[in-house]
Amino acid sequence: MNRPVASEASSREPHRLGPLQTIDVTMRRFAERDEVDFLIVGCGSAGGVLLQRLARAGFHVIALEAGPFWDTARDWVSDESGSHELYWEDPRVTGGKNPLALGSNNCGKGVGGGSVHWAAFTPRLHPSDFEVYTRDGVGTDWPINYDIIRPYYEQLELEMPVAGPAYYPWGHPHGYAYGPHPMGGAGNALIKGCTALGIPVSIGGPVAILSGSHGDRPHCIYRGFCLQGCKVGAKASTLITHVPDALHSGAEIRDQSMAARVELGDNGRVTGVHYFDRNGKSRFQRAKAVIIAGYSIETPRLLLNSACKGFENGLANSSDTVGRYLMAQGGNVILGRFEQPVRMYKAPPAHALTEEFYETNPKNDFARGFAIQTVGPLPIAFGKQMVSAKRAWGWGLRREMMDYNHWASFGLLAEILPWAENRVTLAEERDRFGLPVAHVSFNLHDNDKKLIDAAKNKTMQVMQAASATEVVQEARYAHLVGAARMGHDPRTSVVDKFGRAHDIANLFICDGSILPTQGSANPGLTIQALAARTADYLISQGQSTFTSNERDMTEPSLRRELAPPGTYGRGVPRIA
Ligand SMILES: Cc1cc2nc3c(=O)[nH]c(=O)nc-3n(C[C@H](O)[C@H](O)[C@H](O)COP(=O)(O)OP(=O)(O)OC[C@H]3O[C@@H](n4cnc5c(N)ncnc54)[C@H](O)[C@@H]3O)c2cc1C
Ligand code: SF4
Repeated sequence: MNRPVASEASSREPHRLGPLQTIDVTMRRFAERDEVDFLIVGCGSAGGVLLQRLARAGFHVIALEAGPFWDTARDWVSDESGSHELYWEDPRVTGGKNPLALGSNNCGKGVGGGSVHWAAFTPRLHPSDFEVYTRDGVGTDWPINYDIIRPYYEQLELEMPVAGPAYYPWGHPHGYAYGPHPMGGAGNALIKGCTALGIPVSIGGPVAILSGSHGDRPHCIYRGFCLQGCKVGAKASTLITHVPDALHSGAEIRDQSMAARVELGDNGRVTGVHYFDRNGKSRFQRAKAVIIAGYSIETPRLLLNSACKGFENGLANSSDTVGRYLMAQGGNVILGRFEQPVRMYKAPPAHALTEEFYETNPKNDFARGFAIQTVGPLPIAFGKQMVSAKRAWGWGLRREMMDYNHWASFGLLAEILPWAENRVTLAEERDRFGLPVAHVSFNLHDNDKKLIDAAKNKTMQVMQAASATEVVQEARYAHLVGAARMGHDPRTSVVDKFGRAHDIANLFICDGSILPTQGSANPGLTIQALAARTADYLISQGQSTFTSNERDMTEPSLRRELAPPGTYGRGVPRIA
């Protein structure tokens, strides 16, 4: 469906992002003959932050976004079955011995990307995550350490902003400037179960949901539709946190525009992107530099679809690493039935967790660890879980669904290591534009299986300790990252520590696909923090990104002044 875009809508009626928040600026339009500074493919979690930063710093920047530019009042419904347009449901092929479910369980489509339908849990990675090979002899080390990303964590936690406890004990202990949320039924069960077993638990966050009103965004009203796109505007997404300021700063978002191929010039530098516009017409936008921010599946797909002379196996793929080392987390859902009603929908799904089992424990027969979190499936998701966990069907399924109010659910996040054969390649099948779709192959290794098993058993134990009378589980995955990883060595990674392709000096990748490992934290905060750092790097490089093939590897300094207006001076600062 063709929707009006921000600039058109603003001339007739305001483009709404919430009950109070509107876009009150006419969007700038660049011409295709204009050679813009940066062309970003994908305006999701990372793309939205990049767009805002680069525009605010004065660059000419366009984001091509395959999905719509949501007007939340017009496009979003507080209805579980009506929310599917938020997801990337275009065809993809899945395979391998332990295939991933693709579609609503992974990436978004539309301005804001996956941050529109995420639950908004925002834990940081732990310092150990950046050196798992050095510490545990598995996976790989990152080319950066925790201290480098830490200021960006602190910054994005203010920009979203994140609510959470005053003292968060795991990883690098820290606190949150915005107070925690009250407990819902699933959170109460997690506290009860963990407390009975002596497991510390964090209550009320960290989650990027407003616990008090913030500018033109009202606080959470605890109606549980976070995964359906929060119409209230309490849950952070880049659509509402960064995109408005990007437009004010002169950025253009070309929505319903599907990038098909990145063009490489004779001088070994990219010159722009071929894309299909909202009418399906093939177009070309010139740019001095291109940044791909399309998510862990579509980013490698675009690079592979951009194969050309000199890069016959895919653009920027001299290492044969594009598409490889794709990761998911084990994301089993554990459901417990309680005698008393729980009403798990009456809270954001994300509101309590424990990271007590996150780190490698030498007593285990596997490396790395897991987290346990609240999740709050609405009735359709719950019904599917009952089909999967209890083989419920027909009248049996109906009975389970009538019992919905008595169930609580926890999700585990178990770290799966990066393996070369877990990868995105191109399938024979083509999409409606005639572009080969992604084929995603996924296998679990011994360490992964043992870890997921241990995490499942511990989470079931917690549910039982919370006094659940029946405990069942559904095996699933969560959070895809990797497939265009960063690293020091051009033979084993696609991009350097700033996201610049080893092979092409004016091509960058900035999204979850550059993560070398993933810990057992939800990845969204890390993805946005890395995007802000890449932006700072590009700003520090000035015009040289557009003219030089030299690589300056100096760490940029954090530019707090580029934060969206209203970031500072609110909340109650606690522990730095
Ligand atoms: C149900 C669910 C719940 C989640 N909950 C959490 C959570 O609580 N906390 C957390 O941290 N993470 C969560 N996540 C994960 C999180 O949403 C993602 O990790 C994150 O959004 C990925 O960011 P990204 O920038 O890599 O990609 P995205 O945010 O997906 O952005 C990619 C964008 O690029 C666009 N695009 C792709 N290809 C093209 C192309 N060829 N041309 C033009 N545009 C293109 C897409 O339409 C999309 O908008 C959740 C995910 C799901 C599915
Ligand atoms: S629970 Fe809060 S954050 Fe989630 S959809 Fe409702 S108002 Fe938005």
